[in-house]
Amino acid sequence: MAFVIIKPKRDKSLKRKHPWIFSGALAKKKGHAAAGDTVDVVDTRGSWLGRGAYSPTSQIAVRIWTFDPNEPVDRAFFRHRLKRAIANRHDLKKGGRLNALRLVNAESDGLPGLIIDQYDRFLVCQFLTVGVHAWKPVIVEELQDLIIADGIFERSDSPVLGKEGLTHSVGPLAGKAPPDRIAIQEGDFRYLVDVRNGHKTGFYLDQRDNRRQVGHYASDRDVLNCFCYTGGFGVAAMAAGARTVTNVDISAGALDLARENMALNDLDSERVTYLQADVFKQLRSFRDAARQFDVIVLDPPKFADSRQQLERASRGYKDINLLAIKLLRSGGYVFTFSCSGLMEPSLFQKIVSDAALDAGRDTQIIQRMSQAADHPTSLNFPEGHYLKGLLCRVW
Ligand code: SAH
Repeated sequence: MAFVIIKPKRDKSLKRKHPWIFSGALAKKKGHAAAGDTVDVVDTRGSWLGRGAYSPTSQIAVRIWTFDPNEPVDRAFFRHRLKRAIANRHDLKKGGRLNALRLVNAESDGLPGLIIDQYDRFLVCQFLTVGVHAWKPVIVEELQDLIIADGIFERSDSPVLGKEGLTHSVGPLAGKAPPDRIAIQEGDFRYLVDVRNGHKTGFYLDQRDNRRQVGHYASDRDVLNCFCYTGGFGVAAMAAGARTVTNVDISAGALDLARENMALNDLDSERVTYLQADVFKQLRSFRDAARQFDVIVLDPPKFADSRQQLERASRGYKDINLLAIKLLRSGGYVFTFSCSGLMEPSLFQKIVSDAALDAGRDTQIIQRMSQAADHPTSLNFPEGHYLKGLLCRVW
């Protein structure tokens, strides 16, 4: 097996079992290793540090599979990791009213670059690094053995693939091809998911707990659901007895599915409005029209993909939070989120705080929100915590 030598003093994160080695930390590579091949990682004195997948094009040159020198990276390794990740979700499924969840959450489940989401009887996978890409046939075979599914579908079409030198790959991997819409059950709610064309693998499973939370505050209230996508928060609000729900998104396709989701849950469509609009502009129109709401959800797309974009992203978050806070009646609530991993929770809180100050409104945080339990964060991989939310009461 080829091996790579880490520069002196660049082994700190590895000793803390962080799975990434940046290309700048590599002193040398010995032997031949192609993209995705397994390499051993040693320090300049020859001490063994880990074993991982080699990626020649990425800034992350190695992603560690194992910190155990006696653990080979083979079929049994993948079977074991998959089995463990799936077993870890059993508690979540107790009660039997949940048939859509993330089964494998990449680095945080010890499988860098691999996402596997279950939507009822279909599995949807993303192979986002050369390491998991190389093991794709083995992973698909083991999955078929571990889980009863009608079909396994691939949605490797994220922009991050380019960094790994990979191209998009979308289509069935095993079994039946999924239908155009899969109906999923999430507690009291049902949703239709388009796993072929939807965002990520089709649905924002990570917001599951927060949907329920919106329901707790929605009864008899006017709810504005910004960046609504397929209307997840809107369904939760209407089911809880909201007076009105206003769903806003720029995508007509997302709004169509949001309408279907409302109907699927037998909710009163007369009290729901769908606006195809840019949220930044729509919030200004509401302001100019002196429209007010009691509950506002702000769940924008990722505003920052790189550190260079953080400042611009911060301005974006500040803008929508300021406008939204101004639209709230006294005693109203804003559920405000950021799914940009690069945006630290403390910076996000500062931005919301600045927005509240500029809006001239007294604001309390009454709850901090995060991603659902099927999107765990390994303590060795803090980057795995990407979704942050603040539930604020505004006076
Ligand atoms: N809240 C959703 C997920 C939001 S994903 C849920 O819980 O399912 C982000 C959404 O923002 C996408 O549907 C995208 O179409 C929409 N979007 C992106 N930029 C927008 C903009 N400027 N104005 C309105 N919608 C936008």
